[in-house]
Amino acid sequence: MMRLFYFLRIQYKLLKRRYSTSVASFCKRCGRDIHDFVVDDKVWEKVEKHIKYGHTLCYDCFCELCLKEDLPSVWKLEKD
Ligand SMILES: [Zn+2]
Repeated sequence: MMRLFYFLRIQYKLLKRRYSTSVASFCKRCGRDIHDFVVDDKVWEKVEKHIKYGHTLCYDCFCELCLKEDLPSVWKLEKD
């Protein structure tokens, strides 16, 4: 159910951006507006292939994809 919502949110924003320049950067996986963050190039290479529509991720989706790639320590704030 959330997947459908995310899909529709992305489609809506892609459509809206076509007719307006005022659409903020948004996550191409779940569609929420994002803040910039810095990622190591080697990590991004592994994560980027999971993004269907573009090259932007929110931090939550980035963390989920890191887990999928077995890279949990990339984003964990606690010590091992
Ligand atoms: Zn996201």
